[in-house]
Amino acid sequence: MRLIFLGPPGAGKGTQAKLLTERYGIPQLSTGDMLRAAVAQATEVGKRAKAVMDAGQLVSDEIVNEIVSDRIDQPDCAKGFILDGYPRTVPQAIALGKMLEGKGLKLDAVIELKVDEAALVKRMENRVAETIAAGGTVRSDDNPEAFKRRLTEYREKTAPLSEHYAGTGQLRTVDGMADVNTVTAEIEKILA
Ligand code: AMP
Repeated sequence: MRLIFLGPPGAGKGTQAKLLTERYGIPQLSTGDMLRAAVAQATEVGKRAKAVMDAGQLVSDEIVNEIVSDRIDQPDCAKGFILDGYPRTVPQAIALGKMLEGKGLKLDAVIELKVDEAALVKRMENRVAETIAAGGTVRSDDNPEAFKRRLTEYREKTAPLSEHYAGTGQLRTVDGMADVNTVTAEIEKILA
């Protein structure tokens, strides 16, 4: 099973991807998590990505395409994977298509979580409060200014992906405003 999750920041992509990894026994490939790990380890990629991420802007297509291509080659991706936060631009989607073709792989579905934008800032604030309550570290881009920028980046660069995947006939849309379990059930219906 090879899936892509689409949707703005705070739509619940990461939450749903995590739940599905347990159900299907395939890994969640979050480019955001991979980049944050690179920043924490101060790798070359991490050093290049940090300021861009903190500003809520997108890291270059070249960097993320390479990270994803390497990750897909790992043995735990043999049965499939869930892409969360990638592709994020139409050129990334085109690169992914070529990458998969080169590896002899196909996507099963592209699932878009549709959400009411007004709810997203509130969700981000809740995520920050929950992280603090759990004694965790708050993401450096989970603040109102960077979040606004992330939403703008989404609207300008990522939202056109819906049309791209509608064109390939792979797009499926789910109401991301429903509660977590309902959203999971809707996704499972699509995948059944
Ligand atoms: P996320 O955890 O998916 O919200 O991603 C956090 C940040 O990582 C984004 O705001 C971008 O700066 C960067 N990032 C993650 N995935 C991508 C991607 N596919 N393309 C470009 N930048 C990305």
